Amino acid sequence: MNIAVVGTGYVGLVSGTCFAETGNHVICVDNNESKVESLQNGQLTIYEPGLELLFGRNTKEGRLTFTTDLEYAIKKSEIIFLALPTPPGEDGSADLSYVLGVAEQLGEMMDDYKVIVDKSTVPVGTAEKVTAAIAKKAKVDFDVVSNPEFLREGVAVDDFLKPDRVVIGTSSERAQKVMHRLYEPFVRQGNPIYFMDERSAEMTKYAANSYLATRITFMNEIANLCEIVGANVDMVRIGMGSDSRIGKRFLFPGVGYGGSCFPKDVQALAKTAKDNDYDFNILNSVMNVNNRQKHVLSEKIIKHFGGDLTGRTIALWGLAFKPNTDDIREAPAIYIIEDLLAAGATVTAYDPEAMENMRALFGDKVNFVEHRYDALKDASCLAIVTEWSIFRTPDFSYIAELMKEKVIFDGRNLYSLEDMEEIGFYYNSIGRNSID
Ligand code: NAD
Repeated sequence: MNIAVVGTGYVGLVSGTCFAETGNHVICVDNNESKVESLQNGQLTIYEPGLELLFGRNTKEGRLTFTTDLEYAIKKSEIIFLALPTPPGEDGSADLSYVLGVAEQLGEMMDDYKVIVDKSTVPVGTAEKVTAAIAKKAKVDFDVVSNPEFLREGVAVDDFLKPDRVVIGTSSERAQKVMHRLYEPFVRQGNPIYFMDERSAEMTKYAANSYLATRITFMNEIANLCEIVGANVDMVRIGMGSDSRIGKRFLFPGVGYGGSCFPKDVQALAKTAKDNDYDFNILNSVMNVNNRQKHVLSEKIIKHFGGDLTGRTIALWGLAFKPNTDDIREAPAIYIIEDLLAAGATVTAYDPEAMENMRALFGDKVNFVEHRYDALKDASCLAIVTEWSIFRTPDFSYIAELMKEKVIFDGRNLYSLEDMEEIGFYYNSIGRNSID
C-alpha cells in the first residue's frame, strides 16, 4: 500500500517506519525543513530504542522516504495519516489548528479516493471537523477514520509492531477494509482490531490516558500518606497489585506524571467535560495532585538543608520524563530544577539521552556533564529523577568518595532501604521511611 504520514515526530516517524517494515511504501511529510533534511540524510531526529535498525533498512530499500512536499505525498498515497501535534490551547482544550490546517489543504490535492486517518489524539467530534474541512474543496470520494495511537515512548517500536489492540473508528465499510488490510500484519499473534464509531474511538484514547494518569496519581497519594503513617509503599504496591482486579503494572509512585501526552490529555478531557456541562471531579483532582507531586522531591531537599541551598551543589540523575527517551516535554525534572535554582542551588545534571533537549531549555543555568559520576563531584545531594537502568546499581563507595555529603533523595525508589542503611547514606525516597 502507498501511505503518507503527515507529521514526522515521535508518532509519525515510528508509525511510518513500522508501516514500511511490513512492506508498504511510506512517504513521511513534515514542514520542518531541517528535520526532513536530517532524515533524508539518514539521521534519526528522535531517540527511540530499535528504531535505527528499521529506519536504516527501510530507507535503504526505498520503502521509506521523506519530503516537505505535502501535495506530492498526497497524490502518491491511498492512505494519509495525520500525526500532527495537538498541544493544549490556553483554555486546556486540544489545539486542533495543526490538524485542521492540514485537513483544509488536502481537499484540493486529492485526485482519487483516499482514506484520511487521524492518528493524533483529538477530542470527540474531530473526525467530523476534519471531514468538513476536507469536503470544502474535495472533488473525489474520501473517508476520515479515527485511529488513536497507544504507543509508549521508550518502547514505541515494540508497541507499534505488536500492539495490545488497534482501535479504528469509522462508519465506512470501504475504509474499514483498507484499515484491516493495513493492520493485519501487526496482529497476527491474535490481538484484536476493534472497529467502532469515530466518537467512541476518539474517546477511548482520552479515557485510557486519563485512567492511567489517575492510577499513577492515586499511587502518589497513597505513597505520600505511607510516608506520614510509617508504611512502605513498595510493600503496599505489591500487596495491592497481586489482586487480579487491580494488576501489577502502572502502580509505581514517583515525582508525578509528565510527558507530551498525560498532562495535555487529562486537561483536554476535563475541558470536553466542562464544555458539556459535566463536572468530571476526578480529573480536576488528578491535575491538582500531579502539579503538587512534581514539587515533592525538591521541597524535601530544600527542607532537608534548612530552606536555603545557596553554596550547595545538587546533582540530578535523569532528566527525561521517563527512561529510554530523549523527550522532556512536561518532565518533572524541569520543575525540580526550577525549584532548586530558585532556592540558590548549583545544579549539575546527567541523562543518557535528554541533555541536549534540557540544555535548550536551561542553557548554562545547569551544569550538564558527560558521565553520571561527574555530576556528583562535591555535591551535597544526589536527586534521582528518572529511572534509567544505568542508575540502578551504581558504585556507592565511589559515590561516597565524590560527594561532599552522603545524601540521596530518590524520586523513583531505585534502591532498597536495607542497602542504603548498610552503606550509611541519608536516603529519602517516595512513600517509604527515610534512612538516617
Ligand atoms: P511531535 O511534536 O513529536 O511531532 C509532530 C510533528 O508534526 C513535528 O515533527 C512537526 O514539525 C510536524 N508538523 C507540525 N505542523 C505540520 C504541518 N503543517 N505539516 C507537516 N508537519 C507538521 O508530536 P508527537 O509526540 O508525535 O504527537 C503527535 C500526536 O500523537 C499528538 O496528538 C499526540 O498527542 C499523539 N500521541 C503521541 C504519543 C507520544 O508518545 N508522543 C503517543 C500517542 C499519541
